[in-house]
Amino acid sequence: MKLENPTPIDWKFSVRAEQLQSSAIREILKVTMRPEVISFAGGLPSPATFPVERMKAAFDKVLSEQGKMALQYGPTDGYAPLREFLAKSLSTPTSTILPEQIMMVSGSQQALDLIGKVLVDEGSKVLVETPSYLGALQAFSVYQPQFESVDTDEHGLIPASVAEKGQGAKLMYALPNFQNPTGRTLSVERRYELVETCARMGIPLIEDNPYGDLCYSGEPLPKMLNMNPDGVIYMGSFSKVLTPGIRLGYIVAPVPLIRKLEQAKQASDLHTAQLTQMVVYEVIKDGFLDEHIPTIRALYSRQCDVMLEAMSQHFPASVSWTRPEGGMFIWVTLPAHMDSKQLLDEAIAQNVAFVPGGPFYANEAEKNTLRLSFVTVSPERIHEGIEKLGKLIKAKL
Ligand code: PMP
Repeated sequence: MKLENPTPIDWKFSVRAEQLQSSAIREILKVTMRPEVISFAGGLPSPATFPVERMKAAFDKVLSEQGKMALQYGPTDGYAPLREFLAKSLSTPTSTILPEQIMMVSGSQQALDLIGKVLVDEGSKVLVETPSYLGALQAFSVYQPQFESVDTDEHGLIPASVAEKGQGAKLMYALPNFQNPTGRTLSVERRYELVETCARMGIPLIEDNPYGDLCYSGEPLPKMLNMNPDGVIYMGSFSKVLTPGIRLGYIVAPVPLIRKLEQAKQASDLHTAQLTQMVVYEVIKDGFLDEHIPTIRALYSRQCDVMLEAMSQHFPASVSWTRPEGGMFIWVTLPAHMDSKQLLDEAIAQNVAFVPGGPFYANEAEKNTLRLSFVTVSPERIHEGIEKLGKLIKAKL
């Protein structure tokens, strides 16, 4: 039995849902699915780095040996052995992180949503970098905050600007390592100053760190988490060091906040899949990441060099760009009169894509900026794409 000619529902969305917009990147990615397009637009890690065989063996082992548990519902805060493993690896001689300070999430994107849900009210002041990760702006926007843009320079976020603008803020959202979108890294001195400023002003500081391990040389810089575990909410992710498709990340925070986030997560999805948590634990428990991460670093570092070299060859002197020391992105500043959105339309007509900078700004956008990702494009295509972009930019001078 089926109704004949039912009256279509006139959908009236909640005020909250009316605020939602599709991410600018997801819209651009639809265009870049065409194989002829050289896309510097995606934020996708290189699939060449995915340890497919290793994952396959781990799925097999977990299902063979602990199948019933892996396929059952699990605890909201996550699979205990994995949380214990993470607690150990996040601890330093001067700061111990306990498993009860950690909750597993379905990608660190979920952490952003849960943090917004439990800490942000309509009109709450949320401090963000200028520019910042647009997925975070999108996640927090649902809770209708008032974004305050903290000043930055070529060395990243300026802690003094937090002191100046942060009075009464509910959150400071920071990306200290190889920031998305700029590729910039915050110095140890600035990290400490930021942690100290937020602690003095009573502002919870979010340290979002999906790219921290992808440094091209040396060791990762100290985490702000370890400078003040009582005031920092740390977000980690397996997306850039293992694979994004498994949707696994984690939040580290003081226990009272973890308990509240757990309630929010329970309401949202009960828990993150046991199976994937157990598989990831199986893959990493004997130190696999210590051998795997250097291969990702080496690949991305080479790709980054190729793009920087192509840019210095093909971009005019009036264009400037960042020189990342890790991660996946280069940030480009065009001459002030240029609009990168217009440039994108022309570039797409020539089968080249990037992300215009506008959507990364919470408030006033610098329209002459854009983000390039170099990790999924072959060196030859990087050269070809950058040469085309260079020609289009020169034609506008
Ligand atoms: N934070 C930042 C800065 C990111 O760039 C991303 C992914 N692009 C995320 C969070 C979300 O990552 P995931 O949900 O895959 O862990």
